[in-house]
Amino acid sequence: MSNFSRRSFIKIAGAAGAATALGSLAYAPRARAAGGHVVVIGGGFGGASCAKYLRRADSGIKVTLIEKQKEFITCPFSNLVLGGLKQMDDITHKFDTLQKKYGVDVVHDTVTEIDPAGKSVKLKSGKSIKYDRLVVSPGISLKWGSIEGYDEKAAEIMPHAWKAGAQTVLLRKQLEAMKDGGVVVMASPPNPFRCPPGPYERASMIAHYLKKHKPKSKILILDAKDKFSKQGLFQAGWQQHYPGMIEWVAGAKGGVVKAVDTKKMIVDALDKHKADVANVIPAQAAGKIAIKAGLADDKGWCPVDPKTFESQKHPGIHVIGDASIAGAMPKSGFAASSQGKICAAAIVAMMRGKTIADVSYVNTCYSIVAPKHGISVAAVYRVTDKGIVAVQGAGGVSPADAPAAFREEEYKYTYGWYDSITADIWG
Ligand SMILES: Cc1cc2nc3c(=O)[nH]c(=O)nc-3n(C[C@H](O)[C@H](O)[C@H](O)COP(=O)(O)OP(=O)(O)OC[C@H]3O[C@@H](n4cnc5c(N)ncnc54)[C@H](O)[C@@H]3O)c2cc1C
Repeated sequence: MSNFSRRSFIKIAGAAGAATALGSLAYAPRARAAGGHVVVIGGGFGGASCAKYLRRADSGIKVTLIEKQKEFITCPFSNLVLGGLKQMDDITHKFDTLQKKYGVDVVHDTVTEIDPAGKSVKLKSGKSIKYDRLVVSPGISLKWGSIEGYDEKAAEIMPHAWKAGAQTVLLRKQLEAMKDGGVVVMASPPNPFRCPPGPYERASMIAHYLKKHKPKSKILILDAKDKFSKQGLFQAGWQQHYPGMIEWVAGAKGGVVKAVDTKKMIVDALDKHKADVANVIPAQAAGKIAIKAGLADDKGWCPVDPKTFESQKHPGIHVIGDASIAGAMPKSGFAASSQGKICAAAIVAMMRGKTIADVSYVNTCYSIVAPKHGISVAAVYRVTDKGIVAVQGAGGVSPADAPAAFREEEYKYTYGWYDSITADIWG
């Protein structure tokens, strides 16, 4: 794609949030109400999008959204909190609009069991709720024990901060308390994982903070992989803004972290690395409830029909977002929201006994390397007999040789993207 058309694409994609993936849904006639009850588990990027767009498409459908947290804190921009460019309040969203404006019945509780045969879910509070169709968007679970010594208790000393909230605050506090000249050791997870560029944006934002406040400090990224998303762009950005501060070690060169010792603050890869602050991001799988309900395969992710996101394990249940296996789509908030909307359209069509339209999905992942320096990767996806595949020539990665003004524009688009997608989902 030429720079011009790519820029136009990401501008449109950024401005419109995930709206380009709406397909038939935005224009679905509201006249014939489908009725019925859809329960959605998880009020994050996938679930909240799906709940809202179900109600927008057909206000005759009762939608119950079950979310364990009272407020949703986004992982997108949580790296900016670490870098000091944003505060926790800026990334915290309420469910009031979904409830009051769109008539979604929001229940704050935890789903402890799914009964696919009886079509009901059981809640921690003891209640059971019946559904006609169920949407499961629980995000990820962390594979405790995939790194020896790394469990929930260890995460209180070496935070993963891969679910935004208390872990983000903890990591930020540790960075603030670290001495100048300290070493931040990051462990980056194996594929597939939530937000492929996330660990490298995080290193950039931590470097931004350290450069300003503790310039003698270093960041060591120990990676389970041999390459990563937008690698050339990140590494060029690090060279430009933080020369000598960030070292990245590929998996094949000794980056695979095998164990941690939280008492001695050692991160053990090929060599033992002493950390002043350790950010350990372990391997991941679908959210616990999806695994417990038998929706996942033996690798821990949920196979689905690429057009409807209906589970291949349990008909009548749809799995969207990070928990699903979505072909070439990355595990991102943008992708989850796009899937939530398409899934809503499919459910309405199924409940009305209509055929399901051809669909396309879209994703853009923006990352901030430094203030006024944004980069992105964008793609459009279609469903083929090979599943969800990227459309050749649509999208692309920021050019390597772009001038500073281009990086600054992408930096602004990043903020525009965040504002529009969060307003679309929870605003
Ligand atoms: C540091 C970082 C930066 C990121 N940056 C970006 C970015 O810039 N752009 C982007 O597009 N993506 C980004 N992502 C990825 C994005 O956060 C995820 O892909 C997205 O949140 C996935 O949406 P989801 O609906 O699958 O899960 P989530 O958004 O995590 O939502 C899942 C919800 O389900 C709830 N839940 C789980 N189990 C239950 C249960 N049993 N009962 C009730 N509720 C339950 C959880 O409380 C949670 O609120 C980033 C991720 C990280 C870690």
